[in-house]
Amino acid sequence: MFDFLIVGAGMFGSVCARVVAERGCRVLLIDQRDHIGGNCHSRQIEGIHIHWYGPHIFHTNSQRVWDFARRFSSFNDYVHRVMVNYRGRSFSFPINLKTFGQLWQVSTTAEVEERIVAERLARDSVDSMEDWILSQVGIEIYETFFKGYTTKQWGKSPRELPASIIKRIPIRFTDDDRYFDDRYQGIPIGGYTRWFENLINHPLIKLELNTDFFKHRSEFTQRAWKVIYSGKIDRLFDYRFGRLEYRSMQFDHQFRDGTFQQSATVNYTDQHVPYTRITEHKHFGHQRLGHTVITREYPQAHSEANVPCYPIPDQSNQIRLAKYEELARASEIILGGRLGQYRYLNMDQVIAAAIKAAEQALRQQPVRSSRAA
Ligand code: UDP
Repeated sequence: MFDFLIVGAGMFGSVCARVVAERGCRVLLIDQRDHIGGNCHSRQIEGIHIHWYGPHIFHTNSQRVWDFARRFSSFNDYVHRVMVNYRGRSFSFPINLKTFGQLWQVSTTAEVEERIVAERLARDSVDSMEDWILSQVGIEIYETFFKGYTTKQWGKSPRELPASIIKRIPIRFTDDDRYFDDRYQGIPIGGYTRWFENLINHPLIKLELNTDFFKHRSEFTQRAWKVIYSGKIDRLFDYRFGRLEYRSMQFDHQFRDGTFQQSATVNYTDQHVPYTRITEHKHFGHQRLGHTVITREYPQAHSEANVPCYPIPDQSNQIRLAKYEELARASEIILGGRLGQYRYLNMDQVIAAAIKAAEQALRQQPVRSSRAA
């Protein structure tokens, strides 16, 4: 008998496993895929750690999360910088003073502010992503940077999507061109997969890959006192209220000689380019190598044949989610992670939530009595 069955060896499940194992609990950690790390998984090929499911840059302002993360690997001091390619023109991104200069040949904050005020469009409501961007920066910036990329990325018009999606990305009137402005940033030296291996390397954690929880759900549930689940919330409740939508990606990895581009990621914001971005992994810490690996990301609908990458937080999904959340509150099972919560979460947010969820679970009586038995 295990104290915890943890479904999903991605960020949420693996962090929970470590926290409860360190408090003396026996854990069975299962995952349906043939590898650990969920979508943070990396593979080392020809000396380059490839972010197998797209670029993952660790960034946080939380001292606690940063200290926790660095227990399982050192991190390099990589700082993410992104370029946008729109119809052959290059821009610094997220939008900053440099970008305004490239776009409008203006250089001072005062000039930019004057132009922006003239560009902004009045909007009665700024709930949708489109209205919010138009009210902040006007049509030219909307079309150059956001409209095409977002339509490709989400398979929906920015008119149908909430402004919260875009509020992740700053618009700066300074020359700070970093993608993230958190205090702590970096990539695990040795790759994410090594980080996950170290995280779950504990004598009380037993890992089983290629293992589908839903094929033997009742047997699995009986093997542990408490279940922690980080898969899709709608699947857990047998799609009772219908399916939540997820966006998936096809990742096309290519090996080449030399260096392909000057920054780790270039976003292609024209709607007619079929991919959203190209990531060149050597920029994450192997710049001196003479060969390279690039990855193009082609957004697509999620089906049984691909992995869910992003929850789609539009209104119809939010209404459905509320019903599933009600079931989750009444359930004995602890849910978490991007899929378990159906939320667009960063890695550091998932780590913080997992530590909290695991600590709460440890305070619950049945687990304590099992360990005493
Ligand atoms: N986005 C955009 N243009 C860009 C980059 C991002 O319109 O060049 C929008 C898009 O809707 C995207 C969202 O901003 O989904 C958040 O971008 P982020 O880079 O945080 O996405 P992630 O790395 O999580 O895929």
